Amino acid sequence: MSLFEDQHNFAEVILPVPLPKSFCYSIPLGTDVELAVGHRVLVEFGNRKMYTGVVSEIHQKRPEKYDPKPILEVLEVDPSVTEMQIKLWKWVAEYYMCTIGEVLNIALPSGLKLSSQSYIQLHPSFIVEENLEMLNDKEFTLLSTLEKEQTVAYSQVSNIIQLKSPYKTIKDLIAKEAILLIEQIKEKYKPKMEKRLRLTEQYAEHPEVLDKLFESLGKKAKQGDALLKYLTLVPVHEDHMTNYHGVSKKEFINVGKELSASSVGTMTKNKIFEEFERQIPRFELSIADRMLPTPELSAAQNECLQKTVTGLNDKGVCLLHGVTGSGKTEVYLKLIKSVIENGSQALFMIPEIALTSQLVRRLKVYFGDVLGIYHSKFSDNERVETWKGVQEGQFQVIIGTRSSLFLPFSDLELIVVDEEHDSSYKANDPAPRYQGRDVALVLAHFHHAKVVLGSATPSLESFYLAVKQKYAYAGLTERYGNAQLPEIKIIDIKAMRKQKKMKDDFSDELLQLVHKTTEEGNQAILFQNRRGYSPYVSCETCGWVPSCPDCAVNLTYHIYRNELRCHYCGHKEHVPKTCVSCGGTSLKTVGLGTQKVEEGLKTFLTDIRVGRLDLDTTRRKHSYEQILTDFEQGHIDVLVGTQMVTKGLDFNNVRVVGILNADSLIFFPDFRAHERAFQLLTQVSGRAGRRGDAGTVILQTTMPKETLFAKVARHDYRNFYRKEIQERQQYHYPPFTRLIKLTIRSEKQELTRDSAEWLGKRLINWLGAKRILGPQEPVINKIRNYYLSEIMIKLERENFDLKKAKNYIHHAILNLKEEKPFKRVWVSIDVDPN
Ligand code: ADP
Ligand code: ZN
Ligand code: ZN
Repeated sequence: MSLFEDQHNFAEVILPVPLPKSFCYSIPLGTDVELAVGHRVLVEFGNRKMYTGVVSEIHQKRPEKYDPKPILEVLEVDPSVTEMQIKLWKWVAEYYMCTIGEVLNIALPSGLKLSSQSYIQLHPSFIVEENLEMLNDKEFTLLSTLEKEQTVAYSQVSNIIQLKSPYKTIKDLIAKEAILLIEQIKEKYKPKMEKRLRLTEQYAEHPEVLDKLFESLGKKAKQGDALLKYLTLVPVHEDHMTNYHGVSKKEFINVGKELSASSVGTMTKNKIFEEFERQIPRFELSIADRMLPTPELSAAQNECLQKTVTGLNDKGVCLLHGVTGSGKTEVYLKLIKSVIENGSQALFMIPEIALTSQLVRRLKVYFGDVLGIYHSKFSDNERVETWKGVQEGQFQVIIGTRSSLFLPFSDLELIVVDEEHDSSYKANDPAPRYQGRDVALVLAHFHHAKVVLGSATPSLESFYLAVKQKYAYAGLTERYGNAQLPEIKIIDIKAMRKQKKMKDDFSDELLQLVHKTTEEGNQAILFQNRRGYSPYVSCETCGWVPSCPDCAVNLTYHIYRNELRCHYCGHKEHVPKTCVSCGGTSLKTVGLGTQKVEEGLKTFLTDIRVGRLDLDTTRRKHSYEQILTDFEQGHIDVLVGTQMVTKGLDFNNVRVVGILNADSLIFFPDFRAHERAFQLLTQVSGRAGRRGDAGTVILQTTMPKETLFAKVARHDYRNFYRKEIQERQQYHYPPFTRLIKLTIRSEKQELTRDSAEWLGKRLINWLGAKRILGPQEPVINKIRNYYLSEIMIKLERENFDLKKAKNYIHHAILNLKEEKPFKRVWVSIDVDPN
């Protein structure tokens, strides 16, 4: 019996709203599609708003307290979402203490969520001619347009009647019963189409009349021959449509060589060819790329591969710890290849910024059409295509950032998490604040898939688990080929200044090296972890420092627009002509940002071409790839940048890496500061000398005796690990404990303080004082006019009921919100914060 013959069937629907549950809707009779878990449906929720929801359960339990509304529409024949995905959403919501709606919101590409828009329509009983006299000009224009177009988007009305606010006109017209305001739902997804050519059916079906074609080609019959062969390779019939690509005009003319565009036009007119539209892939490799050979593994790589395979069979998870440039990627590719040969799926995860065209191209060469790409800079349409490609089995390998964990895999056998230590695997705001690496482990568990965690500088968590033999371990200790790890020199900034061997922020040694290497036709990378020109400016007379009106931070100076900017809220202002505090007229810049490094380089080394890679230069979709391509092709000699230059870049000619000031990296008030510093410095150093001669790294600091720098210089991960893990244990930090951070926000400082105290007390009562740190104001205690306070909850890893603790936390927050004075306080929860 179909579900629809029973009136009392209900569906639980997950909606993209921050409420902690799913919602019950009734399934109307006579729907064409038999409703199933995973179907996208259109429902009304709350104040007559429409949402795209996802069915998570079908049942017969009528809710007691309310009469469920009906599902308005089932949006598809086959469900877009799998049960396994819903299982993952539920896990993420529970573990990261957010709502399942929040998970849906980031998991489902917005191209699969319908948007509802307001439209206006002519009122059916409004006869234009009879009522014309009551209309003014604007109204008349609008109604004439409506007569033609039938419906017009509300947002378009102002264009039609040339008024900034069309509100009054519309209100009047509604009152006159001339128009109706309606809500309409629009499917957002649009495939990318291209006009292509193919043989018409007549010619395809009756090869004998193809002679006509040769006649029409006359002298060019030879080319025509080639052309025909080419075209007849591609079938025309409907039943062959799936693999019928047709050819683009350009390609067509290329194959036919001397064939001109006009003769193609004539043949189209004579119905030999026809034009048609076809959806085309977003990323097509050139023929040349397709011919590139795939490399053979070295002996060391082979050994590592075998160890990884054995390790995966043994433990399910393997940490692949290989120094920078050791060729981990080739090992991953071999592993993935065998997954494909099994007919299964593999996911290759990379950190946010590392998705360079370099790596994608390398994978595309290797895997061809079964490779799909998923990335946050992708458009909605591209994301939907990848989603569908995974679902329909076209893509067996996905390369993507953390959100690709939410794709509809059906048969996942392997996940590779490249650069597993990278902090961009962790999602911050909005919720879910999930750690992509950890969710990968869970997803793999659901699919009985294996996980490879790869890094030159593993996270302390992962290395610890490898030491404990929870994970298998495979190492690559040498660079691929004859390449050597770079020599890392520590330069004492203060001593150099005394000896007059510093030019502004550059040691003479660094400048000389950069000069020499670029003279020799090689390249350099300079790293400074601040964007802008200088982190702040200050009055030379009284020391006043301009700060953001809405955040508790100093404004960063940006030289190109001569502007001060807040890096937290985006506030911008002109540099003041006089000091607000004393009226003085000279402001000086203090500290070093990437723009100043760029400027300094151009001053001291006049002949070199400098490029800059930071948030400011990479806002547009392809700018990141463009800068890297320019660098790769040698149009740039020196690349200056923030941590963007530290990640995964693989260039042949980089001989020198300069770290302008390593101090700031280890002063963060964060238990992970040393770990991050070690990783960042090792990674950026790892860009030098990846092929050919060894590279050199200049690490400038005012603390040359800092032992962490010495360990970076000796490439000594193990000693770094030993010391760090000891401290974590001693002070009860991860991996020995689990942290949950609560951030309390309100518009008033006292309110934030009071509510944080209240919450802290409640949590101490329930969880014990030793588990609660704070409340404490963070260093930046105001952002976008919200005052902040933080409570850190430390929970034991073992012998502790995590579920219960989370329940307490949820309750404490609910109770807080129920207290009258704290109504306007927000608390966000971050499990395993970065
Ligand atoms: P890692 O990810 O470990 O830093 P990569 O995988 O990027 O290192 O490899 C470093 C460089 O060595 C790359 O340019 C890669 O093409 C090259 N390489 C690695 N293994 C091989 C191989 N087996 N054959 C040819 N080139 C290789
Ligand atoms: Zn002043
Ligand atoms: Zn601000």
